[in-house]
Amino acid sequence: MDIAMNEFIEKRLDIKKRILVVVGDQNEQKVFRMILGLKFDVLCVSDGKSAIDAILSAPDSYSLIMLDMDLPDNSAYDLLGMVHNDLNLSHIPVVALTSDVSEETKVLEIGAVDFLQKPYGSPTIILARAEKTMNAWEDSRLVAATQFDDLTRLFTREYFYEYVKFLDKKDPNIAMDAIVIDINNFHVINEMHGRALGDEMLRRIGERIGDYVKEYKGIACRYDADTFYLYLPFSDNAEKLFKRVMYGIDDLIDEANTRIRVGVYSKVDKKLDIQRRFECASIACNKIKGVFAAKIAYYDMEMHERRTYDERLMADMDKALNEKQFVVYYQPKFNIQGKKPVLSSAEALVRWVHPELGMVQPNRFIPLFEQNGMIRKIDRYVWKEAARQLAQWKEKFGVSVPVSVNVSRIDMMDHGFVDDITKIVSDAGLETSEYYLEVTESAYTEDAEQIIEVVKKLREKGFHVEMDDFGTGYSSLNMLSSMPIDILKLDITFVRRIHLNEKDLRMVVLIINIAKALDITVVAEGVEFEEQYELLKKYGCNAAQGFLFSRPVIPDEFEKFINEDKGRMK
Ligand code: C2E
Ligand code: CA
Ligand code: CA
Repeated sequence: MDIAMNEFIEKRLDIKKRILVVVGDQNEQKVFRMILGLKFDVLCVSDGKSAIDAILSAPDSYSLIMLDMDLPDNSAYDLLGMVHNDLNLSHIPVVALTSDVSEETKVLEIGAVDFLQKPYGSPTIILARAEKTMNAWEDSRLVAATQFDDLTRLFTREYFYEYVKFLDKKDPNIAMDAIVIDINNFHVINEMHGRALGDEMLRRIGERIGDYVKEYKGIACRYDADTFYLYLPFSDNAEKLFKRVMYGIDDLIDEANTRIRVGVYSKVDKKLDIQRRFECASIACNKIKGVFAAKIAYYDMEMHERRTYDERLMADMDKALNEKQFVVYYQPKFNIQGKKPVLSSAEALVRWVHPELGMVQPNRFIPLFEQNGMIRKIDRYVWKEAARQLAQWKEKFGVSVPVSVNVSRIDMMDHGFVDDITKIVSDAGLETSEYYLEVTESAYTEDAEQIIEVVKKLREKGFHVEMDDFGTGYSSLNMLSSMPIDILKLDITFVRRIHLNEKDLRMVVLIINIAKALDITVVAEGVEFEEQYELLKKYGCNAAQGFLFSRPVIPDEFEKFINEDKGRMK
């Protein structure tokens, strides 16, 4: 055991621990305050709500809760259950204070680690029990967490976290850095050179990191396979750290791009929980992923603002949905094979009209919604809204303007998806043939078989299925013949330069011809210039969508297109 660790284990006993006493009776509170105050920081509250407020405002600062099970507001059992079941709070042991002997088993079952029977007898028993509980509890947690990573001899993640907490308590005023080190393409190294070499590399890197943090009075762990976390006093030594860790790695493997990336979150905000501090360092680290020349990145104000904004969006989502802050815009698609472009359908595109942040574009929030699964609710909302709108237009103008909605990959994985969407369409009094579904190309390549199965079912029900963003995923042209799709949407990146670059144009022409041979309709998206439109028309692209014709607009504005073209539409 090294010196730092011994110190860690000894010193943890020196920090003045804090106890939350939740007791209704004011006189009893006085006793607790007096007796526990001899050795500890004590906060007394008299009801469940104040207890929750106190814990949540500083969950890491309490080492013990002493909880009267007979609180006047009867909230004691709920509070106990909550502390025990919440992952962020369950590290705080609770001693239950009960007057009823028969309650003892029950409180232990719900999650108390010990109980103390009322009346307490001598006050010193309160102090003794509190101390004993805290020490036993900490020891058991430390033993559970005291582990070194076998390979690198650095701390394990659990132990590291405990240790970070300790350092924060020990020296609350020292500015600290959270650093993440990642190895570029580690899986490739493993695959190409074998696991033994991969392990040796991790071992060496771990050793260098271990030496470094020892010298600079910090700590480190292997977070997962090829990621390391470091926590150490602030410095601007990242360059040196990089060199030290890389030293000798080139000898091991003759691969020029075997490199580490270092993400630094300098002078961490200690109010953030530990996981979040390292997430910030990770954000910086990921920003230089794939950037060959870059090796060190700092978490900066811009990333911070972006993250804060993202967090705000995530926090506001549920409410936004309830309050109908999401608005559906429609962008027209035009058939371009005739003399003049004729309206053929509309794509429903969601926007978030946030009461404080203003209009938020989907590229900003859809990826977040995809992460937390909320996208499924939003999509259903948009699908319903689009169906309602289409039905209304049909009634008002006497023509059907097929509307296409975006379907996320996770929607396609839902068991009830096909039935749900069929029901939405029929509830609105529409035919499935008027309702198009856009599924992004990357979905097909990620879960090909399953997606193809779902697409087949959808088409059997009569839906038109479009492959969105074609060209951004990895499906090759010859895969098209096995894809059960009706429409292919050429991604904007393909279309962008066709009027400037001969090669891009030839590529697009090739895709159009293959699609034609397969009886697949081609829609070009992101058409912004007259020249692009002329070329697409000339080479047989069926339809086009883009700012040249119109931006996505609110339903009222869209009606102008229906009005103009309703005579020419079938
Ligand atoms: P997408 O499905 O590829 O939609 C086309 C995007 O290109 C839209 O962006 C549209 O406004 C934009 N666009 C259209 N014409 C042009 C053009 O000429 N030039 C340029 N530069 N852009 C053009 P938008 O509305 O910001 O939507 C972005 C993405 O968000 C969509 O890409 C789609 O993937 C997603 N999205 C939008 N609404 C929904 C929804 O209801 N559900 C799901 N799952 N995703 C949605
Ligand atoms: Ca789309
Ligand atoms: Ca698209």
